[in-house]
Amino acid sequence: MLRDIARAKIELMTYGMNVSETARKTIEGNEKRPLTLADYASTSGISMVLEKNIWVNAPIKDYNPNFVGKTPYTLDFRNGRFFVSSNGIEFEAKPVPVPSYHNGKAQSGEPYRNLAITHTDRVRISPIEGCAIACQFCDLPYEFRYRKKHVTDLVESIRTALSDPIQPAKHVLISGGTPKPEDYRYENEVYRAVASAFPKIDVDVMMVPMPNLLDIQRLKDTGIHGLSINLELYNQDIARRIMHSKWKASRERYLDFIQEAIPIFGEGNVRSLLMVGIEPLEDTLKGVEALAERGCDPVLSPFRPDPSTPMRNEKPPRVDFLVEAYEKAKEIVDKYKGVKLGPRCIPCMHNTLTFPDNSGSYRYS
Ligand code: SF4
Repeated sequence: MLRDIARAKIELMTYGMNVSETARKTIEGNEKRPLTLADYASTSGISMVLEKNIWVNAPIKDYNPNFVGKTPYTLDFRNGRFFVSSNGIEFEAKPVPVPSYHNGKAQSGEPYRNLAITHTDRVRISPIEGCAIACQFCDLPYEFRYRKKHVTDLVESIRTALSDPIQPAKHVLISGGTPKPEDYRYENEVYRAVASAFPKIDVDVMMVPMPNLLDIQRLKDTGIHGLSINLELYNQDIARRIMHSKWKASRERYLDFIQEAIPIFGEGNVRSLLMVGIEPLEDTLKGVEALAERGCDPVLSPFRPDPSTPMRNEKPPRVDFLVEAYEKAKEIVDKYKGVKLGPRCIPCMHNTLTFPDNSGSYRYS
């Protein structure tokens, strides 16, 4: 059974939290730093590390007025320390600050914020702004027009993020939007440029395995460390409705791609995200099993309705639903040697149903 801080993490993801004036002013500091860059549906809140090394991204009303209403949780600051309290119980929390480069600019004049975003210890770049396809839970196609970013700007932004004096990134994720077919070559050029510019840093790629976009062996030879090939949903009727283009790419294609990638990238280096709370739990668990039996780490990501998407008025999944999802998924992955609920990076667990354990499989970069 999940207890105390682990359950609090799930409740924080579900209900969000208030931020006291003192906590707000302390996080903002004299420089008036934002509380969060709120750049993506599942990273719209404040990231914090709680006791027992449990990381969470807790939504706040500023960015999620669509579902953060009356919440029992409040982030407060007293005597030089942050606390999260709820109904008389409180525990220490350490909010992760927005890095100092967030309002800087690349040499070209492009704001870094358009190029790179650091979440906990990982910097994420999105070579494509917007997306060639539209999934109804994702803010990218609804907030940004499609465009390619300059490769040199992207590399420069990563270099800056890695040496940030407040919150230096330790590893890199190159993620979507999905490129148009005519930009597949460009996308692969970004992978090559980043991996060769930072040979000592782990660089992962999160992408849709569209035909002719990703070449598994070439990615490995280029120096890419790991892959995130996200199924998102397992139920095909719901997938067809909500993420039509990804559904058209075919679930079997995703699974075949993942199976092919495992021996090349190795245990723990291929993961796939499943969103929890949009489809029935039994479907999500079928997805967990399909991934685990291929040797892939499933990553459970609670659905967080983004205000800019067509799903803005949906409710996030209930706490008990998430607890059950976590416990049943863990039972499944425990049957498969070498498979864990992902991600393996402990700070990157902040928006997922994953908790560090003593297995030695989870790590800091
Ligand atoms: S493919 Fe990825 S980036 Fe594009 S809309 Fe879907 S989830 Fe968002």
